[in-house]
Amino acid sequence: MSAPNIETIVSLAKRRGFVFPASDLYGGLGSSWDYGSLGVELANNIKQSWWRWLVHERDDIEGLDSSIIQNRLVWKYSGHETTFSDPLVDCRTCKGRFREDKLKDVTCPKDANSCAGSGKECDLTEAKQFNLMFKTTVGATSADDDYLATAYLRPETAQGIFINFKNVLDTSRRKLPFGIAQIGKAFRNEVTPGNFIFRTREFEQMELEYFCRPEDAPKVHQEFIDGFQEWFASLGISAENIKLYEQSKEELSHYSDRTVDILYRFFPEREDENAQFDELMGLANRTDYDLKTHSKKPEDAEGKRLNPDSTEDLSYFDPTANERFYPYCIEPSAGVNRTLLAVLMEAYSERTNDKGEVRVILKLKKDLAPIKVAVLPLAKNKPEIVAMAKQLKKELLPAMRTVYDDTGGIGKLYARQDEIGTPFCVTVDHESLEDNAVTVRDRDTWEQERVPVAELKEYLRKRLEE
Ligand code: ATP
Repeated sequence: MSAPNIETIVSLAKRRGFVFPASDLYGGLGSSWDYGSLGVELANNIKQSWWRWLVHERDDIEGLDSSIIQNRLVWKYSGHETTFSDPLVDCRTCKGRFREDKLKDVTCPKDANSCAGSGKECDLTEAKQFNLMFKTTVGATSADDDYLATAYLRPETAQGIFINFKNVLDTSRRKLPFGIAQIGKAFRNEVTPGNFIFRTREFEQMELEYFCRPEDAPKVHQEFIDGFQEWFASLGISAENIKLYEQSKEELSHYSDRTVDILYRFFPEREDENAQFDELMGLANRTDYDLKTHSKKPEDAEGKRLNPDSTEDLSYFDPTANERFYPYCIEPSAGVNRTLLAVLMEAYSERTNDKGEVRVILKLKKDLAPIKVAVLPLAKNKPEIVAMAKQLKKELLPAMRTVYDDTGGIGKLYARQDEIGTPFCVTVDHESLEDNAVTVRDRDTWEQERVPVAELKEYLRKRLEE
């Protein structure tokens, strides 16, 4: 089972402290979200899984953390200043504002900026190009006409990687093929944000730029398309909720030779099966576009430098082949927030207990669960039980994220831990004081097992690795 719709996850996320509407106190800020104590842990675990898989387990990828604010020229030469825009149309009837390329029908929607015209056919203006980059000014004393005082919040983390290509190459002494990985915030002034954390104006990306010889690029691209499907499977996402989408020539970005999107079934409630799926991540063959465009060397037919501002050449010398060229780049780019949403939707399940009550169980993969073990005292008014439970929490903590919770009766505590995806609850009861053993309860089966305290850490460690 997975969540029937995003709304189910929105209410669970708010109720249990995964994600809250941002600036809620002041009426919110159109589609901004804050991550609460469980949300931040889950996001961190997803990012760690990605980082471990690519940067630690492989021997050909370096990590990087570049600035959000870069020199404006980065975005001039990357093409973002001129082309990173969406076609925007307004409806004269309902005053709604839409992305022309995402407009599925032209009926005034109920939830447009105004309800006027609801149900009528939209009367749309001509499309205007709207640049998605957030603009800001650097320095307090900058003059209005100072070109370089204008800066942008990065709309993708990728450019920070390209402009560091030579730094990483020189310091790591890498040879092709190799990659540079980065996780960080990106900002896009989206025309129509929405669907909870699916589309927001501030979000986080996990991007890998993998550099290779041009002739190897198609094969490397395919390997990552396959590899990422396996990675999503390792996060608990089932293959039936994943689909590949090959972008048509018209849809490709200016730098891309081929782009394949991995889609997730974010909208299972929609009737049309195709409309149930939307982008979870994109994998592009960016060719040599970016390294070339940021290089001082390439010249046009008349011998004029294509980039008169760059101070470096980002070409690569292959000593074996004795040739210099601009490597091709394969880019798998995944959103942290969309991955987190997919993971939550996938993990959502319900189960009816003996009393006929429906309980929510979040069947998160154990390594993604924000909390691995909850230690619960059966009687919080019994100091010996409380002391033993607190001591157990302390002992388990260095090996696994453990919490102590005595804020309710045992039934409520179990229900809460099920709902936030904690794989194991450890209950300390009156008998524990006598036999020095505790009850371990499994989130998914609700089965309980008596385990001696002396063996508890090892027992849980093994079960967490299952
Ligand atoms: P879309 O077509 O949905 O606007 P995109 O193709 O522009 O997405 P990319 O530029 O390929 O997205 O960005 C890579 C990934 O970053 C996306 O697959 C998605 O997971 C994430 N992402 C992009 N834009 C947003 C956003 N506004 N909110 C949340 N995540 C985003």
